[in-house]
Amino acid sequence: MASFRQETRLHYVLVPLAAQGHLIPMIDMAHLLAGRGVCVSLVITPANATRIKPIIDRVHELDLPIQFTELAFPGAKFGLPEGCESMELIPRGFFRHFFDAVYSLSEPFELFLKNLDSAPDCIITDMSSAWTGPVARKFGIPRVIFHGPSCFYISAAHNLEIHKVYDRVSDVFEFVTVPDFPVEVEVNKAQTPGFFNFPGLEDIRKMVLEEQSTADGVVLNSFDDLEKKFIEHYERVIGKKVWTIGPTCLCNKDIDAKSSRGNKEAVDRNKVLTWLDERDAGSVLYSNFGSAAYSNQLQLIEIATGLEASKRPFILVIKKKEIVPEIEKWLSDGFEERVKDRGLILTGWAPQMVILSHPAIGGFMTHCGWNSILEAISMGVPMITWPHFADQFLNEKLVVDVLNIGISIGVKMPNLGSDVVMVRSRDVEKAVLALMEEGNEGKERRDRIRDLAHKAKMAVEEEGSSWKNLADMISYFVEYGRKIEY
Ligand code: UDP
Repeated sequence: MASFRQETRLHYVLVPLAAQGHLIPMIDMAHLLAGRGVCVSLVITPANATRIKPIIDRVHELDLPIQFTELAFPGAKFGLPEGCESMELIPRGFFRHFFDAVYSLSEPFELFLKNLDSAPDCIITDMSSAWTGPVARKFGIPRVIFHGPSCFYISAAHNLEIHKVYDRVSDVFEFVTVPDFPVEVEVNKAQTPGFFNFPGLEDIRKMVLEEQSTADGVVLNSFDDLEKKFIEHYERVIGKKVWTIGPTCLCNKDIDAKSSRGNKEAVDRNKVLTWLDERDAGSVLYSNFGSAAYSNQLQLIEIATGLEASKRPFILVIKKKEIVPEIEKWLSDGFEERVKDRGLILTGWAPQMVILSHPAIGGFMTHCGWNSILEAISMGVPMITWPHFADQFLNEKLVVDVLNIGISIGVKMPNLGSDVVMVRSRDVEKAVLALMEEGNEGKERRDRIRDLAHKAKMAVEEEGSSWKNLADMISYFVEYGRKIEY
């Protein structure tokens, strides 16, 4: 470990938050940095390292300068079930326990830094991992914050915060306008509470906000042609460098890289590809709600019957956690048989990048996680937007109202795992038909997102905006006072 940094190379330490939507883009970032000759140590916990074993194996096979630094996760000490080392695995009511365990990683992290021959040149840390701030200061290492969501969300949330907008609102459903924002946007606290804005998390929230304000810069998974006015706005209001280096997913070029993201595939990708190869171009609707959002049984049945009623080919991803005996029975009691010629039901972790990049995919019903949106944009696939929580309602506004590349399913209430049916099958059917229609509106929507897909690819190519921003970030920290030449 001590000799990891090679003589003339920069060394960056990446500290993701253990949550699929945060870890996946950080792993991409590690690859991007390694591609520019930077040595990377990515801090991870043992259960997460096991989940991404295919990625770690590939890194070793390709001899990339990325090492995975495992810090033991003290879950048991904080009452968490064994192996519960990632946010989407936290049982209800254990959110605080999880963050207490995460925040106690500062001690082993310090030890790791102490054992290095020389201080790393930069720490890139997830916004939620504020515990890295005091450690970085102790060692005099510059620290960049990585924000997982869109810049649209991050800058709106920032403005809501500094203008203390929610302090003046007693009803969480009352809509307020985001102040000093480049476009008119209405939000409410129920949909968009902001950073850790929940009872019982006040101390974490305070630390996260403080550590954001003392960081040496911000790195975002976005690109100029997608959100330029929001990126410029954000850079102005926070008064620091903001480097947009995305879409990071585009660094996964071959099929192995695309399919090993985040977790081991629970489904055979060849089976999925063969199924897709047999469909017409742009004919298939893909439905998947990311890693954390999930649907109750009744909601799942409404989704499935809506897809069936649309008469369009579809892929429906159902999470392991959603496969309860009642659902299994319902699927096998007629549904699977009725849709067998045009519906593919996948259970567990799907190879999303592989699916989205197949030409047969013509639409994506998404929970509006930022990675899923960026993946859809990168592949030119228009979306049906169904936000559940966190940044997702604002991401939806960006997709539907600003970029005009998606159709909203119409959900107004957050869904943190409730038993309520939020959307009926007829609304799913209506949205699918509207998204996949052949008329002018559909065509224009497809043209707009294909144009963005082209721009996304240009952004990450040599001399593209994101490519240059990454180079700028690297040289910024060379000039910052570290002596090693890049
Ligand atoms: N993902 C995947 N297979 C799945 C579910 C999710 O590969 O079955 C990936 C998806 O491609 C994306 C990430 O997991 O990169 C989910 O991140 P996102 O920001 O979309 O949503 P979150 O899970 O954070 O809510």
